[in-house]
Amino acid sequence: MRVIFGAGTIGRLPNELARLGISRALILSTPNQARQASDVASMLGNGAAGIFPEAEMHTPVGVTERAMAYARELEVDGIVAIGGGSTTGLGKAIALRTDLPQIVVPTSYAGSEMTSILGETRDGLKTTQSSPKVLPETVIYDIDLTMTMPQSLSATSGLNAIAHAVEALYARDRNPIISLMAQEGIKSLAQALPKIKTDAKDIEARAEALYGAWLCGSCLGAVGMALHHKLCHTLGGTFNLPHAETHAVILPHAVAYNASADPHAMSEIARALGADDAAGGLFELAGEIGVRRSLKEIGMREEDIDRAADLAVTNPYWNPRPVERDAIRGLFARAWSGTSPVDDVKTQAVLHQ
Ligand code: NAD
Repeated sequence: MRVIFGAGTIGRLPNELARLGISRALILSTPNQARQASDVASMLGNGAAGIFPEAEMHTPVGVTERAMAYARELEVDGIVAIGGGSTTGLGKAIALRTDLPQIVVPTSYAGSEMTSILGETRDGLKTTQSSPKVLPETVIYDIDLTMTMPQSLSATSGLNAIAHAVEALYARDRNPIISLMAQEGIKSLAQALPKIKTDAKDIEARAEALYGAWLCGSCLGAVGMALHHKLCHTLGGTFNLPHAETHAVILPHAVAYNASADPHAMSEIARALGADDAAGGLFELAGEIGVRRSLKEIGMREEDIDRAADLAVTNPYWNPRPVERDAIRGLFARAWSGTSPVDDVKTQAVLHQ
């Protein structure tokens, strides 16, 4: 895929459309970013056939069908998605069904633009699939467009990105190059996010974070994900919890769960974070950048913990430690109340002595 990275790079969009032979683009965004979508449409003039500013979290199939009808009516020949993972997801869902070329302009750190994975939600159930058709032809990373990202989304989206790199380090199909990228991605984001918390307009920190997100997204696209991503898909798809915030809460607990199964990966994660312990370091980082650290605070009901544990052990992804229902229930209970995962790591260490 072709990638353009820098500040002010959105200005290169008209050339990139011409390069792909797109003359009637459909511009996608969420309702929140409709203004940015309309700025893009103005920049493109006749090159923009229309705007569909209705992307939603977790790519509901109903929204995709409405966008498809609009795309057919306008006879579009390409897609420009400007926004976070929700907008990228809608572009990918259209590309899956039409094979239209896509240019993605990511404005969060979700990393979906680097993967051939598409998650879609139908009747409250989220399923993922992988197809080369959904991989964007071109990605334009513009640091300037990330400056408007609210502090809270910057923090949670940054942890969402770190989660991709963390799981890449203990993936079954890991490889040395992706592991290098994963460590560099974790390090960049761990350094940048506290600076962004202090000053959301710190352009150097924004550049470092977007670079880290690109690396972490590439890890997600290259190797298989494990327990953490399975738990987040379950919580997001079935209980409609917010994507990036769910990742932020679950990550330290999923890492603690896997700690005894892959000590080498744990030391790589800890070193990249500049911490003594991987799970503890992630929990601390989340606290430092001010994200909510319990599922309770982001809208999960305590009575749903058992159902979540049942669903999480159904069709589990490969994981370095066997995925056992009771242990997963314990993980969810700790994540629900916001308890530090460090005790879980210690308990496992004792059990393995
Ligand atoms: P999002 O795209 O839903 O964005 C959250 C909100 O922030 C939206 O209203 C959005 O418009 C707004 N926003 C984004 N960037 C902004 C900016 N720079 N300034 C102001 N507002 C901005 O959330 P997300 O966390 O980016 O993405 C989550 C979705 O992406 C989920 O559905 C998830 O499943 C999917 N995802 C998919 C993959 C994949 O490989 N398929 C990878 C990561 C995430």
